[in-house]
Amino acid sequence: MPPYSPITPEILNEIKKAVGLNAVVRDSEKLHEFEKDAGEDARLPELVVEATSSRQVSDLLRLANRYSFPVTPRGLGTGLSGGAVPLFGGVVLSLAKMNRILSIEKDNLIAVVEPGVITLDLQNAVKRKNLFYPPDPASLDTCSIGGNAATNAGGPSCVKYGTTRDYVLGLEAVLPSGEIIEAGVRARKGVVGYDLRHLLLGSEGTLGVITNLILKLIPHPQMITTLVAFFPKLTSAMDAVTAMLVRGHVPCAVEFLDDRCLEITGDLLPFEEVRSTKAMLIIETDGAQRVIEKEMEAIGEICMEQGAVNVVMAPDSLKRARMWEARREVSLRIEERFPLYLHEDIVVPIGKIADLVGCLREFEKVYGIKIYSFGHAGDGNIHVNITAEDRKCRDRAEEGIVALLKRVLSMGGTISGEHGIGIAKKRFLPMELSTESIRIQKEIKQIFDPLRILNPGKIFESP
Ligand SMILES: Cc1cc2nc3c(=O)[nH]c(=O)nc-3n(C[C@H](O)[C@H](O)[C@H](O)COP(=O)(O)OP(=O)(O)OC[C@H]3O[C@@H](n4cnc5c(N)ncnc54)[C@H](O)[C@@H]3O)c2cc1C
Repeated sequence: MPPYSPITPEILNEIKKAVGLNAVVRDSEKLHEFEKDAGEDARLPELVVEATSSRQVSDLLRLANRYSFPVTPRGLGTGLSGGAVPLFGGVVLSLAKMNRILSIEKDNLIAVVEPGVITLDLQNAVKRKNLFYPPDPASLDTCSIGGNAATNAGGPSCVKYGTTRDYVLGLEAVLPSGEIIEAGVRARKGVVGYDLRHLLLGSEGTLGVITNLILKLIPHPQMITTLVAFFPKLTSAMDAVTAMLVRGHVPCAVEFLDDRCLEITGDLLPFEEVRSTKAMLIIETDGAQRVIEKEMEAIGEICMEQGAVNVVMAPDSLKRARMWEARREVSLRIEERFPLYLHEDIVVPIGKIADLVGCLREFEKVYGIKIYSFGHAGDGNIHVNITAEDRKCRDRAEEGIVALLKRVLSMGGTISGEHGIGIAKKRFLPMELSTESIRIQKEIKQIFDPLRILNPGKIFESP
């Protein structure tokens, strides 16, 4: 990395002049709030700028180039891979205050928003107009649309509706040079020129700062219905998932919890079976009532065929709320219990889900770890939560992770489905991407950011 300049009094003055005094945070207690995201890595920024306009973002980045200091964009800091951690100090650029929903256009089925809007706030606002914005990361009440776009976040609804990328029609971004560009369209489609919009989406704040988004909306589904199925074996649950998908059913959520996750969230789950079964599937379908009821019946039958010990159709709204609460609570409860907690976020092809979960106990025995698995079974996206009672077990656990990722890749899978690479996973990048692919990606970074002032030290081990 280039030798970055510290934020000297001269640079501080220039920043204050450019963005205004109100946007600058220097109070040391407040700076600590910006030193980490929801992952493990931490580094204190020298300064935080809380932007309220694209112009401020642009002016800050121009100064960063002139004085050579690093700038790390940040949404609401819920990322799990250290993407918003200022690895080389410098300035954290918070987009949290750019949080206005600028318009919801019913006739065009779009919303125009600033990046700091909380995902759930947008979902609720469009729902009031009978519209639907599907991307639903489990953190949706605490994360931002800008962060979702920068990480291409997804959630349970991915299995039917896709990820954030599928809902960003167009965006405004400030490039590391300070230039402001628009990419994409306001319309439903558009193929003019190279697709810079999709290059910026999922680039984890390394190619540009997203300052405005034009989002695709769809009509809100008429109804949603839920089925809960309990299995004596985790692999049978996964076989049921594969069977329902290949037979043409399209649920809007297919989530699973293994027996260990059921054990720690059992108090929240209003079902007797939780105590005696090895896996729970939560399946939802949405659409017109007659259609989804029939679909649920068929899915219930598939679960029974695959050995489910019980299928609960349409639990009441209270039970449904508790069930989703348990699903969202799992990672927090694991974190509370174990001094060592490493989360992997792998994806395997649909036909391999049962094979993958079937080999997790083998990894536990060999590497002396305890694995809690849950996640988006319908996408083959499994959160493999690796834990140990002692942080000293970390090296051995890391060996286990490498072995697990090799297995995932040998099955045709990928090492990250939604949490991104950031700092936490960059050492694993060459396991999945070829030397040529990494070279081209670094060349792209070089074109966008020749002085490497925007979010340096992320995704790639070396520049
Ligand atoms: C309990 C919990 C559950 C989670 N569940 C899910 C899940 O189901 N699915 C999922 O995908 N993720 C999940 N996450 C991870 C996280 O919530 C997502 O990655 C989310 O998209 C991050 O949004 P944020 O606003 O917090 O971004 P931050 O953490 O602040 O930043 C994330 C990355 O985006 C960049 N960035 C942020 N805003 C901008 C911007 N405006 N322009 C350019 N770059 C920017 C940052 O530099 C960083 O690299 C979960 C996290 C937690 C703690």
